[in-house]
Parts: sequence; structure tokens; C-alpha cells
Amino acid sequence: MRILIANDDGIYSPGLCALAEAAANFGDVRIVAPDVEQSSMGHAITASRPLSYRRAHIKEFESYKVNGTPADCVALGAYHWERVDVVLSGINLGTNLGNSAWHSGTLAAAKQAALLGLRGIAVSTPVAQGEPDFDALMPHVVRVLEILLPDPDLKLVNVNVPPAPKGMQWTRQSLRQYDGKVVPGADPMGRPVFWFTVTPIVETEEGTDRWAVEHDLISITPLRLDLTDAKTLAAAQEKHPLG
Ligand code: MN
Repeated sequence: MRILIANDDGIYSPGLCALAEAAANFGDVRIVAPDVEQSSMGHAITASRPLSYRRAHIKEFESYKVNGTPADCVALGAYHWERVDVVLSGINLGTNLGNSAWHSGTLAAAKQAALLGLRGIAVSTPVAQGEPDFDALMPHVVRVLEILLPDPDLKLVNVNVPPAPKGMQWTRQSLRQYDGKVVPGADPMGRPVFWFTVTPIVETEEGTDRWAVEHDLISITPLRLDLTDAKTLAAAQEKHPLG
């Protein structure tokens, strides 16, 4: 099995190396990741300038750093390595739960794999004080990959691993509102600056990704590329017949 590793935290993130080490139990591993952090870049691609890559040194893994986004890395990685089976993205330093799927660069790398007809799995873990204990997470990540990798029907999956998991759960994406708040401030010259923060503001619903991680369970959410709201589509066709 050919496993391409990407992330959005950048090529030198300890989470990337941990994921490559977990993946090495299952096949050939190659790393293609952004040369600098690209968190919250979502599914941006670099269309206005050329991309290039340079060799990087991440343990024993064949590794390349790209001057682009997570999605760029997957495109370039799949271009240079024929017959990639699956793209693993992460391990992100910070969860990717609920509405953050819309902003996540980690998830975008997995989605880019799915867009290319490959399989994509995103893996994230919360960050509290200091760096996550990736050695402690390793057996849990390996266990998740044991379940997900052999099943070709699992094309796009979002995994979030709490620090000390008590179990695993299949979940759906939490859709509860979040604040999306803009907080004003000033730079040292007194010029106005703004922080755009996105945090959940409503209690979680049981069975969702956020609920699982809050209950110390590994959350595994199968996703799809089709954003169509089928219910509203059917209702709209009924209500506003066109043509
Ligand atoms: Mn990140």
C-alpha cells in the first residue's frame, strides 16, 4: 500500500512524523507537506504562481516540502508518485471537529485526495498545554488505521483522537453554531487589527464528533464531497418549479 502523508502544520510538525511512523506499519510511506504552517487555509490551491518542492529530512522517510497549501501538496505528491492508495493528513495539532471542517487545512488534504479519486483520512488531536504526547497516541492511531485502511468503502474520513482515549465511536459532524467572532485590537503603531476566532458556543449533540472527543472517545466521521442539501433541493423543486 502506498501512503502519502501530508498536513497543514508544516513539514517539521511532530504530528506529521508521528503519523508517518504509524503509517509505516501498513505500507510504503512518502511525505509531501507545506514548507510553512498552513493551518486554517482550508482547501485553497495555489493557482497564481508555480509550485516547487525541496527534499526534507524526516527520519528515514522520503520527504519533500512544498511552497504551497495542503491541497497543493497532495496534488504534487500524487503527481510524482503513481498509484497512491491513500493520503493521511495530520496528525494535526488541534482538533478538527464540527464546523471547523470548513476551515481545516488538515481535512482539505484528505478532501483533495478524494477529489483525485484517492482515499483521504485526516487525523487530529487536541492541544492543551504543550505538545501532545505522540508516543502515547501511537497505539491508538495504529488501531484506527487497522480499521480504516483495509476498507476501500471508507473514502474520506475525519478522525479526532483525544489524549487518553477510552474507546472509539463512529460519529456524524456536529453542526451546532459557533461564534465566528471578530475581535478588534491595535498594533504597536495604534493601527486597528482584528482577530477572527471560531469557537463552538452551543452544547454538543450526542453521537457527533465533538461529543465523542468531549467524552474521551476517538471520533471517526465518514464524510462525502457532495455538499448538496438533498432535502432542501427536493422541497425547492416542489415549491419553485423551474422551466
Ligand atoms: Mn494545523
